[in-house]
Amino acid sequence: MLAANHSYYTVENLSAEAALQELLDGNQRYALDHVEHPHEGSQRRVDLSVAQHPFAIILGCADSRVVPELIFDQGVGDLFVLRVAGNVADEAVLASIEFAVEHLGTRLVVVLGHERCGAVMAAINHAFSEGKLNSLISYIEPAIKAGREANGDCVVSDTVKAHVHLMVKQIQSTEPILSHEVKNSSLKVVPAYYRLATGKVEFL
Ligand SMILES: [Zn+2]
Repeated sequence: MLAANHSYYTVENLSAEAALQELLDGNQRYALDHVEHPHEGSQRRVDLSVAQHPFAIILGCADSRVVPELIFDQGVGDLFVLRVAGNVADEAVLASIEFAVEHLGTRLVVVLGHERCGAVMAAINHAFSEGKLNSLISYIEPAIKAGREANGDCVVSDTVKAHVHLMVKQIQSTEPILSHEVKNSSLKVVPAYYRLATGKVEFL
């Protein structure tokens, strides 16, 4: 039902549950090569020129293979996308999520990790540099410890998933705005994992 009409959430924000279903439906279309490319074109631009009501916030990796609008088969104005290597929730990302929740009314955040994430592999391999990469890796290190404690080893996919879970907790516990919305059940933050070859998103 939700996939049949893509225009209704331009007027009012979707609930977290309806937003999640929309993402699931869109990802299924993408994985099966049945994409609809909704919400593109001149009329859509005109409709959105006054206001935006993205139905989901996606915190994803900057990896060129993980493009949220494509893998969820969504269009202009549908997703509030934050992309940074290793999908880390740093201060700027948390502030951006607050903005979308407070001012745009978005009710769902998806933290989207992915298979063979280069940032996570760099963190595991201690591939430190003299540049800015170290500060990014510091956000991923707690997941490496969590992965080692769970497995006694450092499997990349497990570390990516542990990292996604930790970023979800970070977002949920960020005071005062996000933690308050989560406690009120007016914001949902969910972990997800993307597989490169199949194009499928697994909600964890
Ligand atoms: Zn990545």
